[in-house]
Amino acid sequence: MKKNEVSILGAGLIGSLLSIYLKKRGMDVHVYEKRADNRAGAYKEEGRSINMALSDRGWRALEKAGLREKVLPLTIPMYGRQVHNEHGATTFIPYGKEGQAIYSISRGRFNQLLMNEAEIEGVNIHFESKIEDVDLRTNELHIRDKEGQQEKVGSEVILGADGAYSSLRTAMLKQVRFNYKQEYISHGYKELSIPPTEKGEFAMDPNALHIWPRGSFMLIALPNPDKSFTCTLFLPFEGERVSFENIRDEHDVEGVFQTYFDDAYQKMPNLVSEYFNNPTASLINIECYPWMINKSLLIGDASHAMVPFYGQGMNSGFEDCLILDNLIEKLGANAWELVFAKFQKSRKPNTDAICRLAMENFEEMKADVADPKFLIRKRIEARLHELYPNDWIPLYTMVTFSTMSYSEAYTIGKLQQNIMDGVMSNPLITQNWDKLDYADIIDRLDKAKAV
Ligand SMILES: Cc1cc2nc3c(=O)[nH]c(=O)nc-3n(C[C@H](O)[C@H](O)[C@H](O)COP(=O)(O)OP(=O)(O)OC[C@H]3O[C@@H](n4cnc5c(N)ncnc54)[C@H](O)[C@@H]3O)c2cc1C
Repeated sequence: MKKNEVSILGAGLIGSLLSIYLKKRGMDVHVYEKRADNRAGAYKEEGRSINMALSDRGWRALEKAGLREKVLPLTIPMYGRQVHNEHGATTFIPYGKEGQAIYSISRGRFNQLLMNEAEIEGVNIHFESKIEDVDLRTNELHIRDKEGQQEKVGSEVILGADGAYSSLRTAMLKQVRFNYKQEYISHGYKELSIPPTEKGEFAMDPNALHIWPRGSFMLIALPNPDKSFTCTLFLPFEGERVSFENIRDEHDVEGVFQTYFDDAYQKMPNLVSEYFNNPTASLINIECYPWMINKSLLIGDASHAMVPFYGQGMNSGFEDCLILDNLIEKLGANAWELVFAKFQKSRKPNTDAICRLAMENFEEMKADVADPKFLIRKRIEARLHELYPNDWIPLYTMVTFSTMSYSEAYTIGKLQQNIMDGVMSNPLITQNWDKLDYADIIDRLDKAKAV
């Protein structure tokens, strides 16, 4: 039987980047991907053209692989949220300090670039090779190829980067003392689009993430290099007046969009056909532990799939790759079990924290950003950060524009949240927010941290 040194399951974003890191360390790396090689054709996946927000943690991981400059031309910086109210008026809320941005990038194009780079490095990507089972006792992969033939391949090391429905994790689930938790949220999503204007320009400001928050549902839009926007509509599946269940025909779609998203509706000539042709997808949170059994390890969404509301699923998966590579650098390429043990122990509390934050941010995005007090709250936090840059770092900044561990960001974020809840309970806050005793707020935070 053939035996690989390293087998990576899945040539998604995480599997591809990981393969580049390991190949650069001189290993013999094979990647098994169930999909066909789509690089010659379009890059839409099952009616979805997802674009995503790449932020500092992701950039840092790309940088170590020498890919920053190659990825940059595929991206568009977004410096803040452009919030659209029901009358079409907009408010811009910066994400961080001037110049700080998250970057919109098409998942399909990005994945193609990473697979190309992996092959340039010498990684073997086996397309149309579905992992059907993994024998964890012998470290053997059971692979079904495009002709329907099953092949068994042995491997010194197996890395499961095969996403939220991982085949490696399914094999681990059959082992004793493997913990697993999954939760589908009440909402699903559907992709729609805003094409360029007749003059071939962006229909809205391209340097912002547009958001139409409407309480129990919302629409967002991210820019693409072809001057279109990819929109994502998040709705409850059922149970609410505005839900996927209750939008049955063209009149329902138009009615909902005219009522709640009219400024976007005016820019969406293909709305009805897209609504009915594009799939409705569900959103899941997955946590499990351990991530390793012998010389097999789960990584990326396979070990921690989160809802997309903090824009950190891919970023955290890239950070996984960076941390794993740092451990290999430190402990040596042959100490796999030690590397995996240290990796899962240090990383798990952090991915738990970002999974929780992603859930909590869902509430903020769909409801709070529409509240005028939310804007004041953000202004106070921005002022605190401006006056005391090392003492008060807003939670979003810690997660998105720093390399602080997610769990530390979570803990500090909770302390700040309690203090800000107190500040915001002042009934006159909308009038006197800029006259607050900011030094006293910092003092309260220091005391809370000391407890
Ligand atoms: C709507 C939405 C918006 C998002 N926005 C953001 C964002 O703005 N920022 C961000 O950081 N993250 C975002 N994410 C999360 C991000 O998409 C994921 O975290 C990321 O794609 C995970 O990458 P992965 O490689 O671990 O898994 P995947 O992307 O799922 O890749 C897994 C790969 O494994 C292959 N595979 C699966 N099973 C098998 C098998 N049995 N055999 C062989 N191959 C297999 C699949 O075909 C696929 O190529 C978003 C997610 C969603 C749903």
